[in-house]
Amino acid sequence: MKKTYIAILLALAILPLTVMNTHAALTFKDVGTTHRAQASINYLAEGGIVTGDSNGNFLPDKTVTRAEAAAMIGRAVGLNGTQRTTRFPDVASQSFASGYIQSAVDAKIISGYSDGTFKPNNPVTRGEMALLISRAFNYNATTTASAASALMSRGIAQGITANDFGYNANIKRSDFAVFLARSINYKLRLSPQVSFNIETEVTASSLNIRKGPSTAYGTVGGIPQGTKVQGAYIVGDWMYIRTSTLEGFAHRNYLNGDYIPGDNDGSSIASQMIIIDPGHGGTDPGATGLGIREKDVVLDTGLKVRALLNKTPFKVTMTRQTDVFISLAQRVQIANSAKGNIFVSIHANAFNGTANGSETYYYSAAANPHVADSKLLATKIQNRLIEAWKLSNRGVKNGNFHVLRENNMPAVLVELGFIDNAKDNEKLKSPEWRQKAAEAIFYGILDYYKEKGFDVNSYYSIK
Ligand SMILES: [Zn+2]
Repeated sequence: MKKTYIAILLALAILPLTVMNTHAALTFKDVGTTHRAQASINYLAEGGIVTGDSNGNFLPDKTVTRAEAAAMIGRAVGLNGTQRTTRFPDVASQSFASGYIQSAVDAKIISGYSDGTFKPNNPVTRGEMALLISRAFNYNATTTASAASALMSRGIAQGITANDFGYNANIKRSDFAVFLARSINYKLRLSPQVSFNIETEVTASSLNIRKGPSTAYGTVGGIPQGTKVQGAYIVGDWMYIRTSTLEGFAHRNYLNGDYIPGDNDGSSIASQMIIIDPGHGGTDPGATGLGIREKDVVLDTGLKVRALLNKTPFKVTMTRQTDVFISLAQRVQIANSAKGNIFVSIHANAFNGTANGSETYYYSAAANPHVADSKLLATKIQNRLIEAWKLSNRGVKNGNFHVLRENNMPAVLVELGFIDNAKDNEKLKSPEWRQKAAEAIFYGILDYYKEKGFDVNSYYSIK
């Protein structure tokens, strides 16, 4: 039965253009074309991922139940939704969501309660939503906090304030639709950027590219056998791909190539580009004191961090690797065009000879989708640096610096110590201590990725 269903689905995936576009764009009476979530709701409705009530309303302000969440996510990633008996006494086989609940539980996207029930009518919180989406889309998050940062770093969700994701607030149908639509279609995201780093090729004689990951979505065009395409990420049996002229979803059965499902969309460390930014350089010496210059200290430290990262699958780009002057705007440009995933700027302070200690900055602003990740990275590096150098701990701070504010990725700025302070200078001028600082930054980066759900344990032995 299931095989037949799949065969029909596959046949539909390569049908010619003429039979398509049977699904006109839907609009709900209470959503229309002006509701703030209308683009997302209508996108999902076109693929049958969300439906309204019998009066043609979507009920955007209603709280999402666990049964609804399982059904919407299940339809989005193509789970088997055939209504059937479940393992839960409180989910009858006639329930509209019974099939999706059972499939989502089997796929470990959602789980029941320890008393054996599912509680299908319980509301879903924002924290739970983040975890469900992270699991369904393979974002490798293990906690609600890492799931929330996985969504925020992809431009799928924002916190309700700069420092609060609103984990415990119940989520409304309109907001759930927005987050789900953005997970499926990156063009709906706050910062619509993905890397097309999966190389693959069309094996069907003609392959339809669709607006969404199911045959319910209309086509945007067709591509012939042998066309080389680049994939960005996977949604169920579909891949978001692009050619030189087209972008959209293609069925994975008609694409070959050596990609690993799940090993995409930034979930493997080999996909992660680390930007190391040694401050100053060339005509700009930075801070000076007690016979040494900031530009030399931070360049040497940055090169040592790169040497450590080069012993791992991480990719690295330096904004400078020699004693040259680079403007702040150029540093950001280098980072963005290298498609950096994190940005680490390295500096040393100077003040009055008395001030001393290490500190790490990030930029905190409500509109920035990377605040939580920037703060996490700053905290991890600061903790490691204090442990390694044991200078006074000036803490993790909010700093409105160009390279932190203008970067399109989590970004931090480390001030190793005060060059004009005798005690700090002892460390800054020593190549051995600079190696310790480089290791601290490296371990801080590993700590950050570990908390984000990446498997980095084997790299802690690197020195
Ligand atoms: Zn500086």
